Amino acid sequence: MALQVTGMPSVVESIAAHDSGTTPFSVEFFPPRDEAAEARLWRTVRDFEQLRPAFVSITYGAGGSTRDRTVRITGEIAEHTTLTPVAHLTAVDHSIDELRAMVGSYADKGIRNILALRGDPPGNPLGEWCAHPEGVHYAEELVHLVRELGDFHLGVASFPEGHHRSPDLDHDTRYLVRKLRAGAEYSITQVFFDVDDYLRLRDRIAAADPEQGAKPIIPEILPITSLRSVRRMVELSGSALPPLLEERLAAAAGSGPQEDRAAVREIGIEFATGMAERLIAEGVPALHFITLNFSRATREVLQNLGLVAAPAAG
Ligand SMILES: Cc1cc2nc3c(=O)[nH]c(=O)nc-3n(C[C@H](O)[C@H](O)[C@H](O)COP(=O)(O)OP(=O)(O)OC[C@H]3O[C@@H](n4cnc5c(N)ncnc54)[C@H](O)[C@@H]3O)c2cc1C
Repeated sequence: MALQVTGMPSVVESIAAHDSGTTPFSVEFFPPRDEAAEARLWRTVRDFEQLRPAFVSITYGAGGSTRDRTVRITGEIAEHTTLTPVAHLTAVDHSIDELRAMVGSYADKGIRNILALRGDPPGNPLGEWCAHPEGVHYAEELVHLVRELGDFHLGVASFPEGHHRSPDLDHDTRYLVRKLRAGAEYSITQVFFDVDDYLRLRDRIAAADPEQGAKPIIPEILPITSLRSVRRMVELSGSALPPLLEERLAAAAGSGPQEDRAAVREIGIEFATGMAERLIAEGVPALHFITLNFSRATREVLQNLGLVAAPAAG
């Protein structure tokens, strides 16, 4: 019997319901590692709740306890806040039966929105991908599986620079379009730093299949607050920091044992604001921010864009 999940808007509905005239935004959290980190996440969740994002997404870890935390926290956000949560789900180390059970536990918590991902090999995201012997090989199969299970609303990942495993952009576009045709209603991009990469991705999908090209491609933005962590992030995702941006950040970070975080942060926020302004001018459906479970940097970018009010002085 198909799982019935009602009561929560889909991502596309939530974006469409946003006040006309401004661009909606959404934010991404990751499952906290311990109690202190969880308390901080909840403060961040409450901060964002006041800013009324279109949705919030919660990433899915490489294994065990972090996965349980993703499910628990996504459920708690659905139950105890006014936010619309999107659960990330990956195929890594899961049999099809386990994936079905995981989707069932989301349904039990009233969660309708799932971001269907293949995931990366645990330990070394750039290492060789091995499917679970009774699992799925690609995100497209996960989209089919979840749709067969019930009334879920699915998103998928897209890659402005192409996925690092795609031999070329034609291949990348072909399989992205297949995931969308399988029933994904939108995609969220990997973090990127060159708006032209996003625009070229949008053109590629529209040229390959105008119907799929009409689905929202939500750009993911990282307000950089640390050079060390952004370098690690791009390395693990197989993407790149533009050399000019990296030079500016490195100059701001300085050559001391500790980077000058305030100076890096200033450039990161200015850069994210500039990117978002251009993306808004290009008519993006929404902006999705990586928050790293903090609210301040994203809030500053949103204030710069006039998408949320600045806190009253005093
Ligand atoms: C917005 C976003 C959120 C993310 N959240 C998480 C998270 O929470 N947890 C996590 O572990 N990872 C996450 N990731 C990372 C993601 O899991 C990896 O980038 C992974 O390597 C690719 O996942 P995918 O769903 O795009 O895979 P797929 O769509 O399966 O694509 C993987 C590669 O296979 C190719 N391909 C697809 N189908 C076929 C086919 N039939 N034949 C041949 N080649 C094919 C594609 O072109 C691509 O090169 C996220 C990525 C993004 C962009």
